[in-house]
Amino acid sequence: MRINDPKIAARLGELDVELVPGTRLADLTSLGIGGTTDLLRIRKYESIPDLLNLLDANHVPHRFLGGGSNLLVGDGELPWVVLQLVPPEPGIILEGNFARVDAAADLGRTVTFCAKHDLGGMEGLIGVPGTVGGALRMNAGAYGMQIGAYVREVKLYRAADHKIEILQGNQISFEYRHTSFAPDDMMLAVTLELPSKPYKEILQGIRICNEKRRSSQPLGQRSAGCIFKNPPGASAGRMIDDLGLKGLSVGDARVSDRHANFFVNAGRASARDMLKLIADVRERVKKAYGVTLENEVVVWNG
Ligand SMILES: Cc1cc2nc3c(=O)[nH]c(=O)nc-3n(C[C@H](O)[C@H](O)[C@H](O)COP(=O)(O)OP(=O)(O)OC[C@H]3O[C@@H](n4cnc5c(N)ncnc54)[C@H](O)[C@@H]3O)c2cc1C
Repeated sequence: MRINDPKIAARLGELDVELVPGTRLADLTSLGIGGTTDLLRIRKYESIPDLLNLLDANHVPHRFLGGGSNLLVGDGELPWVVLQLVPPEPGIILEGNFARVDAAADLGRTVTFCAKHDLGGMEGLIGVPGTVGGALRMNAGAYGMQIGAYVREVKLYRAADHKIEILQGNQISFEYRHTSFAPDDMMLAVTLELPSKPYKEILQGIRICNEKRRSSQPLGQRSAGCIFKNPPGASAGRMIDDLGLKGLSVGDARVSDRHANFFVNAGRASARDMLKLIADVRERVKKAYGVTLENEVVVWNG
């Protein structure tokens, strides 16, 4: 979608929002798949309510982009614009066991920054790409931990009230790759409460998690991490692997040979290819096990 109206463009400038016309989302997503639209880069959080009012008043649909590491974006000209927060400096403020982190901050850097200040708990998140905002929205986790366990406060734009608000951790429910935020809420910042741990000990935990990832995931290839959520008490990857589906392909979309729940873009895969592959694997799993796998990857298609 293109913002061609010069009045809207001028107002964006007043709100300190950078308009990047005709952005290829394939360049902004870890899968390397996605069509073209206008990107709006937000520098001042305070301008978000006015920005969203402006878009709504002019019937411009929008989506929020974090680091693009859990997204499968459709092909061609996209029917919405994309909003992205510009990472602020320094992005993290520590006070005792509390870390206040901006949503646009890089998740991995946040984990290592806290570790260097003897704050642990998030070792499992090392190697999860993307932003803190994306991790919050997805309740990212690995190796037995989830970010939601450490959330004490979230600053967000609440679409229902058209304003920026603060929610306490106990007002939010964090479940396996699911949170109670409304789809149009935009994460702006989070306060995490992290346990004290000596840096050396955290580093040891980080090394173990890194090694587990290196030995089981196709890290050199373009992917969005796990495509499906694990069904209760089972592993989606194991189910797919046991059906002998590693290497199954549609065009350049391929079930990884290394981890059957990672689907990779082995060249010039389109969203169409990847969606076909996902549907095919889901159907085969349903036939074999009677289980319908649910997407973990967020699909922006239409
Ligand atoms: C190699 C690899 C390994 C991975 N391993 C893991 C893993 O172990 N565990 C795990 O949980 N995930 C994993 N992932 C998936 C992904 O990295 C996480 O889901 C990550 O937290 C997504 O963050 P992001 O900023 O990239 O979000 P995006 O992909 O940009 O967006 C994901 C969703 O969050 C929303 N969103 C993003 N930012 C905001 C915001 N500020 N406000 C509101 N909504 C927002 C988007 O609209 C979208 O719905 C992996 C991915 C890759 C490529």
